[in-house]
Amino acid sequence: MEEIVHIIEPAASGRAKCRGCGRTIAKDELRVGERIENPFADGLTTLWYHVQCAAYKRPEIFLAAAEAHDGTLPDSGRLVAEAKVGAEHRRLPRVNGVQRDPSGRATCRSCRERIGKDEWRIALDFYEEGRFNPAGYIHAGCAADYLGTASIVDRLKHFTPDLADSDVNEIRNALGD
Ligand SMILES: [Zn+2]
Ligand SMILES: [Zn+2]
Repeated sequence: MEEIVHIIEPAASGRAKCRGCGRTIAKDELRVGERIENPFADGLTTLWYHVQCAAYKRPEIFLAAAEAHDGTLPDSGRLVAEAKVGAEHRRLPRVNGVQRDPSGRATCRSCRERIGKDEWRIALDFYEEGRFNPAGYIHAGCAADYLGTASIVDRLKHFTPDLADSDVNEIRNALGD
């Protein structure tokens, strides 16, 4: 079988959605293409990501694509470092943002205790066969235990772009970072 090569290239149109965050990838913006076996037909299909989203949520794919890429990649040193941290902590790429618990009914995947209403919780999703599936929550304070690191504020801000500065301060405290 042919070796699968993941790619980085400018988006040909502004229509593709990023698998990592669900938002549109702007035309001409660099994007990462994860090449996978097409589940519905012979051959390969491509999952597209913003470069930052790939570094966070598909670190091994990002690193392979960056290695194979012979054009420029702005901020590549930082992105590669972030992807390496994600590759070393196998649960870290599951992080999909942060929110105040709306109901007090969710159970933390790490400590198995209830997450209190209005407490900050970290949303998780699991990558499986080309899709990200929602996979529950952890207390912000359980991040270090569950993820292996609590240095995740930049990642949380990336996947939850509408956080206020005061929210970020509260989250930082809750993480204990
Ligand atoms: Zn994205
Ligand atoms: Zn917990």
